Amino acid sequence: MAAFITKRSQLQWLALLAVAVALPTASLLWFMSRVIANERLVVQQKLAVLYQDKLADASAKTMSRLQGPLSALEEIKPAANPYAALRRLVLEYHFRGLVLAADDDTLIYPQLGGATLPGASADSPFGAASREEFAHQDYSTAADLYDSLLGDADPHIALAAAVGKSRCLSRLGRLDAALAACCQAALAPLRREDPSLCLTVENARLLLLSLLRQAGPNPARANLFQQTIDALVADLFSPSGDKPLLSANQNLFIAQKTLEALHGPFLYHDERAVTALQKLTAAEELSIAAAETLTPAAGATDVIFKTTLEQKTMYGLRRRLRSTTALALLSDEAVADVLAGFRDVFTGTESTYRILDASGEFVAGVAQPRGNPFTVAMLPAAFPGWKVELYFQGGDVFEKAAQRQIAVYIWTGGLVILLVLIAAGLATRAVSRQIRLNSMKNDFIATVSHELKTPLASMRVLVDTVLEGHVRDEAQAKEYLRMSARENERLSRMIDNFLTFSRMERNKKVFNLANVSPASMAEAALDSVRAKFAAQNCRLTVEIAQSLPAIPADHDAIVTVLVNLLDNACKYTTQDKQITLKVFTRDDALCFAVGDNGIGLARRHLRKIFDSFYQVDSSLARQAEGCGLGLSIVKFIVDAHHGRVTVESKPGAGSVFTVCLPLNKHGNHPHH
Ligand code: ADP
Repeated sequence: MAAFITKRSQLQWLALLAVAVALPTASLLWFMSRVIANERLVVQQKLAVLYQDKLADASAKTMSRLQGPLSALEEIKPAANPYAALRRLVLEYHFRGLVLAADDDTLIYPQLGGATLPGASADSPFGAASREEFAHQDYSTAADLYDSLLGDADPHIALAAAVGKSRCLSRLGRLDAALAACCQAALAPLRREDPSLCLTVENARLLLLSLLRQAGPNPARANLFQQTIDALVADLFSPSGDKPLLSANQNLFIAQKTLEALHGPFLYHDERAVTALQKLTAAEELSIAAAETLTPAAGATDVIFKTTLEQKTMYGLRRRLRSTTALALLSDEAVADVLAGFRDVFTGTESTYRILDASGEFVAGVAQPRGNPFTVAMLPAAFPGWKVELYFQGGDVFEKAAQRQIAVYIWTGGLVILLVLIAAGLATRAVSRQIRLNSMKNDFIATVSHELKTPLASMRVLVDTVLEGHVRDEAQAKEYLRMSARENERLSRMIDNFLTFSRMERNKKVFNLANVSPASMAEAALDSVRAKFAAQNCRLTVEIAQSLPAIPADHDAIVTVLVNLLDNACKYTTQDKQITLKVFTRDDALCFAVGDNGIGLARRHLRKIFDSFYQVDSSLARQAEGCGLGLSIVKFIVDAHHGRVTVESKPGAGSVFTVCLPLNKHGNHPHH
């Protein structure tokens, strides 16, 4: 594979590798993000399906509950006294108001305006009495004049005179007399057919209540108070008769005054009647407001809508009744009651609900549930735009589960990415190693051809010179032959190295171990380099320790090691070459140390120089014409002897290569 690698394809290789990492990583990340997004969706959908039936059930229940108020409206008889309907709707169904309108928007209830108190001409006796009272403020005369009219044949005059007399007497400070005068008028039976007369009587009752308040309580007055209120409660919002006694605004005014009187010093015995009166009064007030602001007859029917009356938001419901439209105002209770279908279905399940109206306002259920809704559904058509949201009780169980799942995905994804990166890293290293080795081999071939050619060429020139007799004397001829022999020797050593290396490569190298003396090996190595050192002005210092033990080693192999180290020491030293060879024992090892004062090595090269074909690409290393095999052969041989080769070096200061071989027979199992 490596053999095909060129500079250009190296880049292609790296690009390919980057794509091989980036592609799976990117697709994994994409896949994970999809999975995470889907995870939530899937669970939500499952739950939504699961709760579909419950929602349908709750909706059906709600619709059937809505039938309550709808059929209550259905029962209204537009031709009858509307107070019958109002009483039932307010007191039984908790409605807050009612408007009944004909198709042309004319109001059937609440009707406004209504009867007025009877007037009297100025020259009539009643007119004279009024003049004395209001214009002249002569109450005593006025009282007498009113008194004379009490027996009048016209019941309007007779009643109004009694009220006038009572008013005047109270002005004169005669409260008891005033009360007595008012009593008769106030407690007179009402005549339904005459609204104006009814209004006079109700007026008398209100006057009586205010007179009682002024007089303060005593048993007789307390009794009178009860009677008056009884009469008012019986007549206000009265469903008896075919139409109301008074118009809605008059009825409301009197009802409000009555409720005010109940706050006075007198106690009224019938609590329930008071509560009913309060509710009906409030309903009438809202009904009047609704009649004024809404168009009762127009608008969607049978749907709940939201409106604001008297600064309060509330819900309304219209229903068609033949030629009439009933518009009911629903209380919050009534709405909650209708929506109780949801409460019935969802209590006791692990979910809670929240119902929001069309404007997103909370209506029913849990006001502030925890977490996110797992499903949202619309309410039935009678609640246009209303939504129900379903939540898990006690927070988002599902969200937690999804998060756990997501965490698992993220961890797995991270792990896979890490593995891909590691694999890619290893692949990159292997590939770049192959690339480097390949380029080294290419360099090697170039070097080898050059290295072999140079000595051969010079040998040929030297030999040719001698053969052709171009020499001064025999001494010169000898000198040339000696030079030729040296070149020959260099060539042999180089070829030796190549062969050793080649055998090493093929694991064919055989070591012949015998007990040899370290000194003899050192001497043999020195012999082989001495001539060369002398030629290059290398000063050599040798220190061989006394009485060194013999070690089991392959003599020739160790000599090759030492020659290579000494050769390098000389090659990589510039001027004033000082080389040392020391042989000594240390711990359980016998060591050869070759030192020089040469160019040294940078830290980053220290480990690599023992690799085959590795050369520090300095100009001197290039000049030195090596081929990067020497140290790899050294390491191979030393390893085969179970020894160690180390180097200490500093750029510019020189290097020391130390080879240590075990003395101990024990660790001594050189392999083949
Ligand atoms: P070469 O044939 O290039 O000498 P070697 O394997 O013997 O190959 O050495 C590898 C490299 O180590 C050399 O190219 C050189 O740069 C460096 N080297 C070896 N010995 C020394 C030394 N004594 N001083 C400095 N550099 C050295």
